[in-house]
Amino acid sequence: MLARKLYYLRQVMKNQWIKKKELGKLQDAMLRRLILHSYKNVPFYRKLWDAHSVNISKIKTAEDLDKLPIVTKQDVLKNRNSMIAVNYRKTHEIGNFTTRATSGTSGNPVEVIFDERANDYLEAVYLRGLLAAGYRPWTPLVYYWWTNFESRIYNRFGLMNKVRIPCSLTEDDQLKMLQNKNTGYIYYYGGILHSIAQKMLHLGINIDAQMVVTHAELVTNRMRKTISKAFGVEPFDQYGTTEFNRLAWQCEQRENYHVDADSIALELSDDNTAIVTGMANYILPLIRYDMGDVLEISGEGCPCGRTLPTIKNICGRKEDVIKLKSGKAFAASVIADEIAKFKDVYKFSAIYNGNNRFYIKLAPFTGHENLEEAMEKSLTGRLKEDVKVRIKILDEIAKSKRGKRKLVSVEIP
Ligand SMILES: [Zn+2]
Repeated sequence: MLARKLYYLRQVMKNQWIKKKELGKLQDAMLRRLILHSYKNVPFYRKLWDAHSVNISKIKTAEDLDKLPIVTKQDVLKNRNSMIAVNYRKTHEIGNFTTRATSGTSGNPVEVIFDERANDYLEAVYLRGLLAAGYRPWTPLVYYWWTNFESRIYNRFGLMNKVRIPCSLTEDDQLKMLQNKNTGYIYYYGGILHSIAQKMLHLGINIDAQMVVTHAELVTNRMRKTISKAFGVEPFDQYGTTEFNRLAWQCEQRENYHVDADSIALELSDDNTAIVTGMANYILPLIRYDMGDVLEISGEGCPCGRTLPTIKNICGRKEDVIKLKSGKAFAASVIADEIAKFKDVYKFSAIYNGNNRFYIKLAPFTGHENLEEAMEKSLTGRLKEDVKVRIKILDEIAKSKRGKRKLVSVEIP
């Protein structure tokens, strides 16, 4: 509903500037309402919390959330039916909801559904992050995506139009499309856009962009710099997931990511992974859901003056943390950042085989005579521990169906 979306947009645009205390109160109230609703109407949570002897009346603020058990993707796969709120059964039966399924790259795909009110709210939150990056809804947005877009009413009025670049295309073909687009607004997967930027710099091509937003894939400082050089503007990175839509985004400072604290409650587990509660969705609530993404918390405020809390970095998946022989551990982002410094590398996908051994699939531009040695030296220096690198030269490195290419993963034989 367009009117409701606009109403929510006005609300969330205000929320980013309200006093910290007020924001805290707002979040606590949203949480409290969600928890009461879930205990009353969602059989899964009632059973789970009763089994853990949780006293619901004691969950009053975000700090109390850790009294509730963590919910995993496996839990959702197994219990999806009993996670649908009984007071939304009718809505469910008539199909009045929005469905989104995760890609399944980290296990089986999870299908989440959003009630229409939640969907409107989440779209407003999503738009807030884009607006902070300088996006103006009357300018079409180049959008790298895996499926066609549904046409919306506001598209007919020339608002929020998208120009799709299909994920199935190679980076070479995507670059050709990008060169032919006459809009300067680009919304792209970070890793793929980095490959394109490497190619542009290699060939001496520049594309003048007005705004570049990256999302959906790991993007490190070095990768950001390369993208910035190729497109002439510093990119804004955003953190979103299928389960919750937008979670955090960089403002004009690009120092930190602002967390959408009026949409989600974010906690960090002992191994620094994101535990997320989506406060807007009532048809299938996800409460203390283990997102599996490793985050670096900043705890600092942001010079922009927004009161939304901040995180410093999104560092990759929990299962892709590299554990060296010495016991030292590194997030996937550290490895990706080190490989991204090589200008001859067009595309890459690094696999850690354990025992300090890396196997790196590479699609380089020119010769690769010294790359293996150079990367070994470079990674050894960065990790401060001897590592072995073996590279395999390929013409193409496969992407997933949804157009992602995993930059770093762990496969212990
Ligand atoms: Zn800021």
